[in-house]
Amino acid sequence: MASCPGKLVVISGPSGVGKSTILRRLLAELPHLVPSVSATTRPPRAGERDGVDYHFLTAEAFAVRRQRNEFLECCQVYGRQYWYGTLVDEVAPRLASGGWVVLEIDVEGTLSILERYPEAITIFVEPSHPDQLLERLQGRGTETPEAMARRLEVARRELLQSHHYRHRVVNDDNVAAAVNAIERILFDAGLPPTATGDRRQPPLQPPAAQPASPTEARTPTSGAQT
Ligand code: ADP
Ligand code: 5GP
Repeated sequence: MASCPGKLVVISGPSGVGKSTILRRLLAELPHLVPSVSATTRPPRAGERDGVDYHFLTAEAFAVRRQRNEFLECCQVYGRQYWYGTLVDEVAPRLASGGWVVLEIDVEGTLSILERYPEAITIFVEPSHPDQLLERLQGRGTETPEAMARRLEVARRELLQSHHYRHRVVNDDNVAAAVNAIERILFDAGLPPTATGDRRQPPLQPPAAQPASPTEARTPTSGAQT
């Protein structure tokens, strides 16, 4: 088990549910949150930048880095077609210096991460209806029909695995509500407030009269199912 002064946040959910959209907003609003840029053998989509969205590697380069134990976790996602992995260098030094590092990885990767970092704050993003995944993937327009079918097949399995996660957040038609729900989870876990502020509602009672449990002090939201 790794112990460190920083915090690790893991966001997962089926393909097309809106993880990247949510994460982009979180990173824009929460400067204390630092993304871990994963490595992948998947080719870049239009607009994706090497070193920003992913470290795009050839299969050979990925294999070499695997052999050198440079990954905290890695696996083949989507019908064993492409490799994805979290690089030790993206995570360990930042955690050691007290940073909040966020990973957007799949369920298999999360289970490996939890073996090393059982205190990780794990968040599973769900659609309000499974049909939304197909609609959103079609709307995004980045996948061939075959790739979309593979992603939906994996998604069906991933939706049954949300119980591994400490928090569940529904991304229905209101992406801002899902972003707010995740922000509240992070502030409750101790993420420092930002210039735009910790958006939790102020407590109704003075702090001394509040219950010790942070869960009881939490403001319920339509987006969060913790
Ligand atoms: P993921 O990273 O989970 O695969 P994306 O963030 O790429 O998903 O989102 C998939 C598509 O769905 C994108 O076109 C995005 O703009 C859209 N989208 C994301 N959240 C919502 C939402 N709450 N309502 C409608 N469309 C959404
Ligand atoms: P995409 O190809 O849509 O960017 O991502 C596909 C899937 O790979 C998503 O479920 C995403 O969470 C997952 N993924 C991205 N990076 C990693 C990683 O480093 N490790 C693991 N295990 N999964 C990842």
